[in-house]
Amino acid sequence: MAKGNYLWWVQCEGYPDVPVLAPDWEQATVQAAKLWCVPWAKVAALCELREKLPAITCVCQRCQRVFHGTGTLCDDCVSAVRIEAQRTEAAKRRYFRKLYAGK
Ligand SMILES: [Zn+2]
Repeated sequence: MAKGNYLWWVQCEGYPDVPVLAPDWEQATVQAAKLWCVPWAKVAALCELREKLPAITCVCQRCQRVFHGTGTLCDDCVSAVRIEAQRTEAAKRRYFRKLYAGK
């Protein structure tokens, strides 16, 4: 990992909180959007900082397992975050459908 990185916990309504490594907040939101598999423009303004910490590598920030890879999450947790993000997206769509159907 490049020097000057921090560990940012990014939260955004409707998505699971994610830890990302980035030198600044904007890059952190870019990384978070990637984890959620959503276009950055869609969530950039909605992202909020939960915590900024010194960069930690090789320990998964979600399950605390030691892993060898880049980033802050092991493969299992990356998939888990993606599934969770998709599920909340789907739930939102259902919610809005119901909202409009009720009119
Ligand atoms: Zn993990």
